Amino acid sequence: MSTGAVVAAIARKRDGHALSRAELAAVLDPQTPDHQLAAFLMAVVWRGMDDAELDALVELMVASGDRLDLSALGPVVADKHSTGGVGDKTTLVVAPLVAACGVPVAKLSGRGLGHTGGTLDKLEAIPGMRTDLTVEAFVDQVARVGIAVAGQSERLVPADGRLYALRDVTATVPSVPLIAASIMSKKLAAGASRLVLDVKVGAGALLTDPAQTRLLARTMARLGHRAGIETTCLLSRMDEPLGCAIGNALEVAEAVATLGGDGPPDLTELCLTAAGLLAHDPESAAAALASGAGLNAYRRWIAAQGGDPDAPLPQAPARVGVAAARSGVVESCDARGLADLAMALGAGRVRKGDPIDPAVGIVVHRKTGDPVAAGDTLATVHARSEDAVDRAAVAACFAIGDGPAGSRPVVLEVIRA
Ligand code: URA
Repeated sequence: MSTGAVVAAIARKRDGHALSRAELAAVLDPQTPDHQLAAFLMAVVWRGMDDAELDALVELMVASGDRLDLSALGPVVADKHSTGGVGDKTTLVVAPLVAACGVPVAKLSGRGLGHTGGTLDKLEAIPGMRTDLTVEAFVDQVARVGIAVAGQSERLVPADGRLYALRDVTATVPSVPLIAASIMSKKLAAGASRLVLDVKVGAGALLTDPAQTRLLARTMARLGHRAGIETTCLLSRMDEPLGCAIGNALEVAEAVATLGGDGPPDLTELCLTAAGLLAHDPESAAAALASGAGLNAYRRWIAAQGGDPDAPLPQAPARVGVAAARSGVVESCDARGLADLAMALGAGRVRKGDPIDPAVGIVVHRKTGDPVAAGDTLATVHARSEDAVDRAAVAACFAIGDGPAGSRPVVLEVIRA
């Protein structure tokens, strides 16, 4: 592709024009250098994209790599995806509940980067668990066990791999069309027919503006519908961590407790809503939780991927409680602040490929709306040493005021195309 064609396309996007499929194909050509792609991305952040452009962009991105064929698994295969949150262990609960309702779940997941965690890292905290399944092993496991969750290959939407790496370092992540294209190209290539997208809203989310978040949900629902995938978006609160645990092994333990009927109310609510939508049967999803069928499905799934569901999870040597300085009501619990602190303990990675420590993290004991007395433990930090814990920074993530007390729903809205 000629450099001139790419420069012309970037200039037209810079000036607010809609690009044709041919222009977008020129930009996405593997020969286009990073500096031109980066300029294109920033132009999209400023100028946006219309529906026809976005459709073409998604199709070109999907066509850049392999596409999974899940037709052997039957007419319905479920998948879920979250736009990224703090303490978000929903896949570990939702997938077994849906499988226990008889709907196969085939999910390709990513690793954590920055302040949000990744499902693969959480799963790999389970001793023996493998996430590097071949496509054949992945499809075979869904057919036999009802669930498989694996890492996505480099060949699945390689165009997104390249664009995302550039977006990360050029401040071009927060853009509705770019996020929608990135997520939906991977969902289309991964082959499921029924999809729930958990679109996070609030200070711990990728997009903090509720109007932009709603637009993102509508845009992704439209892209899914257009591709023949039944797509439902949940807008869910991400101003505080989901559930109580942040950190890989701690989150696995909380997911197992949730499947045992002993989970935090917000996590349980979100998981039951998502599972009910994916199973087309909210009552069966609730029954799978109450009867333990979901927990049994979890155990079969983990064992199928080499994990030992009964093995003790990694534990950090130091546990440090952080106490409330005053009595009152927790008025906010800063998801982003707690995530950054957990990352500094080693629970997350700053750069792709960094090692992580599965044992460390933070467990929150008081959430927004909870009454608290001076001296109560707000959170317990699980760390390699007491010296690694900044108590004041953890306490600063909790705003304690005069109320009002009371819980709030986590699911704010359900959006379909
Ligand atoms: N998750 C993705 O896969 N892509 C984005 O752009 C944002 C979140």
